Amino acid sequence: LIQLYLPLNFLGFVYREIKQSLTDMEQMFRLLDEEREIEDAPDAAELVVDKGEVRFEDVKFGYSAARPILKGISFEVPAGKSVALVGPSGAGKSTISRLLFRFYDIDSGAIRIDGQDIRTVTQDSLRRAIGIVPQDTVLFNDSIYYNIAYGRPSASREEVEEAARLASIHDFVLGLPEGYETTVGERGLKLSGGEKQRVAIARTLLKRPKIFLFDEATSALDSQTEKAIQSSLSEVSHNYTTLIIAHRLSTVIDADEIIVLRDGEISERGSHTELLARDGIYAAMWREQMREETGADVRELDVAG
Ligand code: ADP
Ligand code: MG
Repeated sequence: LIQLYLPLNFLGFVYREIKQSLTDMEQMFRLLDEEREIEDAPDAAELVVDKGEVRFEDVKFGYSAARPILKGISFEVPAGKSVALVGPSGAGKSTISRLLFRFYDIDSGAIRIDGQDIRTVTQDSLRRAIGIVPQDTVLFNDSIYYNIAYGRPSASREEVEEAARLASIHDFVLGLPEGYETTVGERGLKLSGGEKQRVAIARTLLKRPKIFLFDEATSALDSQTEKAIQSSLSEVSHNYTTLIIAHRLSTVIDADEIIVLRDGEISERGSHTELLARDGIYAAMWREQMREETGADVRELDVAG
């Protein structure tokens, strides 16, 4: 039997710690439009994504030569599996996602998708292959249909509704005054954080990327919404290669591998159960987070029996 430490109201918490966020991602895109520092290689090919395996091979990177940020990171997200990156603020988690999008070139090592070094392919094809579900989804002042279809404007009505169904917002949309034609956004119907995130998930599903990148929401969501989002994320990412940048450890429990990053190095890796049994940094982070989030005493529970 394995002894795990779990809080009493394990899922009913609100995590308030300030962390770097998915807003990051939106900023990344803004950055992308403004400064294209990275040029495609003259003979750059289109990325051919088959299964969607992601590999980091001894990746070293610093934003400046004087200060290394990633100090030799190797991991693999096998096709259809999920890997979660956790670790303290500043550890280099978001840097890893920026490098996967090739917003910067690495100093040494390689990042490969299905064997292709991302430096050898066009940036457009690279970015098309990866679907991001950002924390703060920006909605256009347009119909909810438009907001979902944006993920792939050529999609049929059926495909849009199917994506909405998978993201668990189809029923919600049907309940709106004008259904899919309801105007949302700042000047329309304001959606809650959870609803917006579901729109983002539907959008991303419609895009049909082989690779999902979730940078987890950090804003305080009510526990109901939090639970709903967690389950919809794990449903939709099932069978997709998924990289999760996790702030709440509760969302990484089911990841195939959890990588604990600290100071640009991998300090621990394994499944949730393995890492708790190891009783190292992850286990300490877990206990600490449970304490903070619940404000309740952590009680020892026998969960494996
Ligand atoms: P995490 O996402 O784990 O909180 P980041 O990957 O965002 O960490 O940052 C890792 C380190 O890189 C931090 O010390 C941060 O200050 C630094 N850093 C992040 N972005 C930049 C940048 N654009 N220029 C210089 N340093 C940066
Ligand atoms: Mg970050």
